[in-house]
Amino acid sequence: MTEAEARLIDEAGRKFGPKVVITDPSEIEPWVSDWRGRVHGVTPAMLAPASTGEVVEIIRLASEHRVPLVPQGGNTGMAAGATPPGDGSAILLSMRRMNRVRSISVENRLAVAEAGVILTTLHDAAHQNGMRFPLTLGARGSCTIGGLTSTNAGGTQVLKFGTMRSLIAGLEAVLADGSVHNGLSGLKKDNRGYSLDQLLIGAEGTLGVVTAVALRLVPAIAARAVAWTGVDSPAKALELLRFLDARTASIEGFELVPQDSLDLVLKHIPNTRAPLSGEHKWHALIEATTADPEANIAAELETLLAAAMQQGIMGDAVLAANEAQAEAFWKLRDSISEAERAEGQTLAHDISVAVADMPEFILEAAAAVEAAFPGVVASGFGHLGDGNIHFHVRAGRHAAPDWYEAEGEKITRMVDDLVTAAGGSISAEHGIGQLKRAEFARLAPPGRIEALRAIKQALDPLGIMNPGKLIP
Ligand SMILES: Cc1cc2nc3c(=O)[nH]c(=O)nc-3n(C[C@H](O)[C@H](O)[C@H](O)COP(=O)(O)OP(=O)(O)OC[C@H]3O[C@@H](n4cnc5c(N)ncnc54)[C@H](O)[C@@H]3O)c2cc1C
Repeated sequence: MTEAEARLIDEAGRKFGPKVVITDPSEIEPWVSDWRGRVHGVTPAMLAPASTGEVVEIIRLASEHRVPLVPQGGNTGMAAGATPPGDGSAILLSMRRMNRVRSISVENRLAVAEAGVILTTLHDAAHQNGMRFPLTLGARGSCTIGGLTSTNAGGTQVLKFGTMRSLIAGLEAVLADGSVHNGLSGLKKDNRGYSLDQLLIGAEGTLGVVTAVALRLVPAIAARAVAWTGVDSPAKALELLRFLDARTASIEGFELVPQDSLDLVLKHIPNTRAPLSGEHKWHALIEATTADPEANIAAELETLLAAAMQQGIMGDAVLAANEAQAEAFWKLRDSISEAERAEGQTLAHDISVAVADMPEFILEAAAAVEAAFPGVVASGFGHLGDGNIHFHVRAGRHAAPDWYEAEGEKITRMVDDLVTAAGGSISAEHGIGQLKRAEFARLAPPGRIEALRAIKQALDPLGIMNPGKLIP
């Protein structure tokens, strides 16, 4: 622990007491490694404020003593952005105690939630008011509104509702100089120059601490229909999506699953079974919803899928007969990463290219990677309609135990080069954090990093906000 950290901890301890200032290593330990367990940090303390006022005072102390802070929500991020540095030179700022849903306005279609509110808590609160917050993802039981905002998270309903950026009406944040930006009014129109709200969304804790967010709500779902379909190729899957898009506005989830990924799920995840009896190289999981209690969404989707089948776009389809079956279909999709982990070593790449280019990209990139690294298995699954897939490369059965360390960097460089050559992004929805900083520096378009550095220098000249993350 540095002398400056010792002074900060001592002062904060006297000011706030042990609820806010945690120094017991057994309480800190669960929070210093990233979710995948790949990056391990060290910190002498974890500060856990319960109000915006306490965050202001903590930031003032951090500035005074020049001690960096690492904001953290649920620690489910995929880029190790919330993991403190390994040399113990920063203090964790846990936002989990700021966990109040401050208000829900059905009239304004807005909820104001504090940064530490867990996503499912917000879902439940909206539901109790006949409304819905239409963003969801696999980590919904642990990730927080502050983390989702700071990574501009996506998930499975982006197709219809966009990422966090399009669902945030404004936010409250404490900036690195201790001032409070209050953008919670949720004004639909506000053109007073640069938008601080937009700057802080996706900033990964490098510009300030998000303390509360005004979030857009939509009416609660009256019914949903979930279908599992078999298609010949990613191109056919996209054709199916466009066929549906042209005929209904109710499609909000469309996930591509290769047969190989489905096989792994069936092999490793208990209580799973293939929805279709025949063989299909690719699958698309489709969810349609309606807020209209009079609408028969299942009949509508069934009719559209029958028409798509007749036109040869799709091989086969089955509609979930009930909620349990719908959940079982989603479980197949949501368990792919877990099944891959059970199978062996996997390299994950969260990438995007233009939607129309993605079908060809998946096939060509997978073939190129498999040819360059014999024995590996490469494939893509996920949010085809957003031009975003998780391009995973598996070690294959005969790989050495240190395959990840030995080959990982080379394979990732190849994937990132292919993505960049296709005009895409090496981080579609997970952010840069620590894990993608070097690749971001290597491949960012000219001027982009200089602009980020200039913004960082202007808003955090002392460098106390999450150093070593995002900005190379
Ligand atoms: C099973 C699983 C499935 C997932 N699926 C998806 C998916 O489909 N789409 C997707 O986009 N992501 C997905 N993720 C990633 C993850 O859930 C999101 O990145 C989420 O937004 C992180 O929220 P968190 O509260 O855990 O943030 P953390 O991991 O704690 O932090 C993430 C980043 O935000 C910063 N931060 C956190 N809180 C604040 C704050 N209050 N103020 C300022 N900075 C802050 C941290 O410093 C860090 O840089 C998944 C993760 C898991 C484990």
